[in-house]
Amino acid sequence: MAKIFCVANQKGGVGKTTTTVNLAAGLAKIGQRVLMVDLDPQGNATMGSGVDKRELKHTIYDVLLEEATVAEARMHSEKCGYDVLGANRELAGAEVELVAVERREARLKAALAVTGAEYDFILIDCPPSLSMLTLNGLCCANGVIVPMQCEYFALEGLTDLVNTIKQVHANLNKDLQIIGLLRVMFDPRITLQVQVSDQLKAHFSDKVFNTVIPRNVRLAEAPSYGLPGVIFDPLSKGAQAYVTFAAEMVERIKKM
Ligand code: ADP
Ligand code: MG
Repeated sequence: MAKIFCVANQKGGVGKTTTTVNLAAGLAKIGQRVLMVDLDPQGNATMGSGVDKRELKHTIYDVLLEEATVAEARMHSEKCGYDVLGANRELAGAEVELVAVERREARLKAALAVTGAEYDFILIDCPPSLSMLTLNGLCCANGVIVPMQCEYFALEGLTDLVNTIKQVHANLNKDLQIIGLLRVMFDPRITLQVQVSDQLKAHFSDKVFNTVIPRNVRLAEAPSYGLPGVIFDPLSKGAQAYVTFAAEMVERIKKM
């Protein structure tokens, strides 16, 4: 069965989508079967995987409302080497429409259970909130990957996320754990970033991934070509770091 990971952090612009698509591409590159699930109505992970969100017949929205199965709604991204369960603006409505539904937080879990055997990894790109959508992601995941920038306020938002994860763990999903904090957009020339990075390691020890993702302009340019950096410029420092991270994830799941 696939191991399912949410890429979550309720802050926006911290590198969730970049991490999701590049980890997906990195895992595919080293021979893993991957499904990337876009749970953000912005649809950036969909577009960033070369799938046009405006032209989708079915999306994750239809899956959550049980109007389509994962098999019907997913697309294969040839260039990226993984499957995509896409999202677009429609998904913003799901929040409201799910209110009246029973076990609304477990919709994604039920949908993915059917296709779990076809993949090694399912990666879920969460929206920048602790909403019903994120809750659906957390309910079906084995672990949460938390991308964070090594800034002064980085740890502030973490408390809310950690508390949410604890509650989901206690009430809805006993498998759930933070598998790791991923340092992203890292610039070793900035002393503060090095200090915060050291603090993270001191506080969270093995919950901090060994791989560090550098700030790298090629990673930021890639989405405008509808590609993850790992495919767009495989030799760039950013791409190489994400492939290293993919290998680290493969090692981690052996211990799960
Ligand atoms: P989120 O999904 O958390 O909102 P994104 O992945 O969209 O964050 O990243 C926010 C912005 O930062 C985007 O413009 C993205 O291209 C850029 N970015 C992300 N990671 C890096 C990196 N390692 N180096 C340079 N730019 C990055
Ligand atoms: Mg995003």
